[in-house]
Amino acid sequence: AKHSGRSTFAWYTAELDAEAQKRKEVEEGLTKALKFDQFKLLYQPQYSLRDGELKGYEALIRWDHPAKGTIRPDIFIPIAEDTGLIEEIGTWVLNHACLEAALWEDKSRRIAVNVSAAQFIAGETQHRVATALRNSGLDPHRLEIEVTESLLISNTDAVIETLRQIRDMGVSIAMDDFGTGYSSLSYLSLFPFDKIKIDKAFVQNLGKDASTDAIVTSIVGLGRSLDVIITAEGVETEEQAVLLSAAGCDLVQGYMFGKPDEVTRHEAEYPIFPLN
Ligand code: C2E
Ligand code: CA
Ligand code: CA
Ligand code: CA
Repeated sequence: AKHSGRSTFAWYTAELDAEAQKRKEVEEGLTKALKFDQFKLLYQPQYSLRDGELKGYEALIRWDHPAKGTIRPDIFIPIAEDTGLIEEIGTWVLNHACLEAALWEDKSRRIAVNVSAAQFIAGETQHRVATALRNSGLDPHRLEIEVTESLLISNTDAVIETLRQIRDMGVSIAMDDFGTGYSSLSYLSLFPFDKIKIDKAFVQNLGKDASTDAIVTSIVGLGRSLDVIITAEGVETEEQAVLLSAAGCDLVQGYMFGKPDEVTRHEAEYPIFPLN
């Protein structure tokens, strides 16, 4: 037993070493990525479910690694958060997204930018947003910041104050991944968000599971009574879109309507509207 315990331990440390090594590599890579401009943003369209109009895009970061190809954010954002590099990456994202959106021909289109809880520094984030707006000349009403519930868990007062100041500039605030965190409802009453994004985990179970259908219907009802816009993310099938439409959901985003892409469309395309 002793022997096997020791070998398990040895195997375990080897595994940890490999993990630590990989993180170190990613960290070094991220520093280079900033220096050599290896990040890019993809844009995923958001449509009004009522009339099929293209309302705007969510900016989603990718890392074009010189050897490994395109790397998705789930791989490197958590490491960027742990190492503090997220600050610089997040600032790049904010500036880049605003500069690009300011160049779009259709000035009614909005741009949504993700700001993670680890990246959000109460008091600082509002300055970064103001700087990005100033540098780009983007109309603040075209910018939306997506935050998650985890942001509101600590330092609630300072965070709410910063969100309020960002909102006072004319920028809107969306609560992302709604329903996956804790105490969603109490946070909603603490801070008046402009928009709620129903997490794709719910959307993808629509029509498969009666309790998911009921949850989505009640989130939409909640949005109605709070006067908050409801977006459904991760819409992949027409069945999901039809159920969301029946529930009264405002906006949709998902592979069915358009994958994240390097280019934005010059003219609104209405891929499958009207829905059956
Ligand atoms: P998120 O904010 O919840 O973004 C939605 C994710 O769902 C994106 O993954 C998007 O590509 C994916 N998606 C969109 N439509 C569909 C669909 O129909 N089906 C499925 N299965 N997936 C769909 P992505 O681009 O890999 O981003 C993952 C996460 O990384 C994001 O989740 C967000 O939390 C984070 N992220 C992305 N860009 C940034 C950024 O610029 N800054 C920060 N801080 N985080 C970012
Ligand atoms: Ca998001
Ligand atoms: Ca999500
Ligand atoms: Ca997320």
